[in-house]
Amino acid sequence: METTLTDTQSWIQERIKQDEIVKYLRGGKDFIDEAVLQNTLRKTKNPDKIKVDAILEKALSLSTLEAEDTATLLNVTDGELWNKIFTVAAQIKRKVYDRRIVTFAPLYTGNMCVNDCLYCGFRCGNTVTERRVLTIDEIKKETEILVGTIGHKRLIVVYGEHPQTDIEYMINSIRAIYSVTVQKGGHDLYIRRVNVNASPLPIEHLKEIKSLGIGVYQVFQETYHKKTYTHIHPKETIKGSYLWRLYCMHRAIESGLEDVGIGALFGLYDWKFEVMGLLYHARELERVFGFGPHTISIPRLEPAVNTPFLQDRKYHVHDEDFKKLVAVLRISIPYAGLILTARESALLRREVVGIGCTQMDASTRIGIGAYSETACEQISERQQFMLGDTRSLDEIVGELADRGSITSFCTAGYRCGRTGKHIMDSLKTGTEAMYCKMNAILTFREWLNDFASPATKQKGELLLHKEIHDLKLKYPNEYDECMGYYQQIMQGKRDIYF
Ligand code: SAM
Ligand code: SF4
Repeated sequence: METTLTDTQSWIQERIKQDEIVKYLRGGKDFIDEAVLQNTLRKTKNPDKIKVDAILEKALSLSTLEAEDTATLLNVTDGELWNKIFTVAAQIKRKVYDRRIVTFAPLYTGNMCVNDCLYCGFRCGNTVTERRVLTIDEIKKETEILVGTIGHKRLIVVYGEHPQTDIEYMINSIRAIYSVTVQKGGHDLYIRRVNVNASPLPIEHLKEIKSLGIGVYQVFQETYHKKTYTHIHPKETIKGSYLWRLYCMHRAIESGLEDVGIGALFGLYDWKFEVMGLLYHARELERVFGFGPHTISIPRLEPAVNTPFLQDRKYHVHDEDFKKLVAVLRISIPYAGLILTARESALLRREVVGIGCTQMDASTRIGIGAYSETACEQISERQQFMLGDTRSLDEIVGELADRGSITSFCTAGYRCGRTGKHIMDSLKTGTEAMYCKMNAILTFREWLNDFASPATKQKGELLLHKEIHDLKLKYPNEYDECMGYYQQIMQGKRDIYF
């Protein structure tokens, strides 16, 4: 679809539906009260050891922490106490998620965008970016590589905000991804779960997306600090509306999309404030809907082509602080998956996974059309920012296996209707942990058979052996049924799950 400047202007003006913001406000106010938030951070400075120990003790019972508890942890300065916080975060991760890491790949559909976010390579004011939107055939081609060559089962499909990639394009592209089947070794392989990262949508469009059977709908607030938000997202753009973005998860859940993903772009403002913002967002969703976010993303600002804003490093989050924010989020919101992207270096990802992250992308390419068209790992003019970890899925699976973590390709949750409150409750009772363990074993078995290099396969077999042994000890009643499925996979069956 060709769009004229006037078409685009009226499209922008009609985008935000004020009534889909106002109805969620309480007494005319939103849930980020900066004064309260800053004050909580201020009054919990210099916490003593006894207080921190009590919070950590309480955290091990796996309930979402109070704002004051989270602020107290963020204000710890003592190195020994931080080590304790890291240990508790790792324990909580093991309790809820065991040693599983879920993996996925991003699929960028285009880089046309009407917004002008100062930090982003795709902003409309960036004249250096080579603009392009993938055709539906090109989307299918990208999917074929991801499914048939790399072996992914789960994608996050990423959209700019532009009339050319509006709802009609989103629907067609998601349908196209789900329509791709690749034959390999006598099996039909396909993407089993499409998650979506897009701009905040109105309820009408969210309902349409929901009807396609997507997994998580993800939108990052970028910064919860209003003054900073206004400074970096020009007022006349759609993204300039803080509240349209802040309430998009309310709209999504109301539209039936129960698995929502929130996030903050770390490096725009004080990282402690952003952690508090994420906590308030999670607690608000719990208050209104009875369950919190399915995932939390913690992207850090990365360099982008022709983007001078990124030279301002006032709020740069150093690696040591990044690890701290992961630990505090893990402890504070134990039932949300924590996503660590390939923006980070391999070295840092290795460390942070142990502390509390539960999902990672792998074999990542974010150039438009990059999976099928180019041998280059990165081309700055085509991507939103530069990546820190471009290792292959095979390398990452092998490394995780070496370190005792199993890569899970499970996509069963939403396909079995385990979403929203249902999945939160089932995580709390431990039922989900059982399903997750069995599905991790089954999907890892499939992937080892279909895609692993000999070296990764060897490491994977050793790990699977241990996981199966552990399954027998933990879930003796389910063991036989799971092993029945396992044998079917060995005989060539695919996509069987609990
Ligand atoms: N256009 C949509 C939006 O802004 O919500 C969704 C897609 S955008 C491609 C995905 C995310 O990338 C943004 O929400 C932002 O957090 C992140 N991002 C943008 N510029 C970045 C940069 N320079 N470094 C790291 N992450 C960045
Ligand atoms: Fe557009 Fe998203 Fe980039 Fe902002 S962050 S310019 S909305 S693609």
